[in-house]
Amino acid sequence: MKIMKRPNILLTGTPGVGKTTLGKELAQRTGLTYINVGDLAQEGQLYDGFDDEYQCPILDEDRVVDELEDRMGDGGMIVDYHGCDFFPERWFHIVFVLRTDNTVLYNRLESRGYTGKKLQDNIQCEIFQTIYEEAMEAYKEEIVHQLPSNEPEDLERNLDQIVQWIEQWMKDNN
Ligand code: ADP
Ligand code: MG
Repeated sequence: MKIMKRPNILLTGTPGVGKTTLGKELAQRTGLTYINVGDLAQEGQLYDGFDDEYQCPILDEDRVVDELEDRMGDGGMIVDYHGCDFFPERWFHIVFVLRTDNTVLYNRLESRGYTGKKLQDNIQCEIFQTIYEEAMEAYKEEIVHQLPSNEPEDLERNLDQIVQWIEQWMKDNN
């Protein structure tokens, strides 16, 4: 039996924009495999030092890439991370940068327990569209798409749109 080729999708954006919510639901609907890079790093202790300012471990990007390389080659992966410039460009067929309005994001991060500098820095990250620019630098512009992620209707619309895109990609590539 011929194995169907399936695309690799990157979901990125500032913490709190809804990557994990979208990624898990998308995996449910499509049968693609959801990978949360933060969780993967935690499980494998793929860290390289500790950031004193933010009080969090620093991701060992090379080890994360090594860890994922074989699985990415199989296709059909949905990767979720709040950064995107250290993944090999060739891994992804499409990149979605989720975007959330400042006030909405502020409330989400506050209810996640973020305060002070950590909260402010993440809001600034979204205001300055840092991750979008990072994605535009790291990948071909035509595969990078912004998705609004403010309310439940956005989630439904984004899911429908990505499911359709996957179906079309599979028709075109199999
Ligand atoms: P991320 O993985 O990007 O940090 P999450 O998926 O954990 O973000 O979502 C952060 C919070 O925002 C969660 O409480 C989630 O339920 C909520 N959320 C995510 N997407 C939406 C949306 N489209 N509309 C309303 N709330 C959302
Ligand atoms: Mg998340």
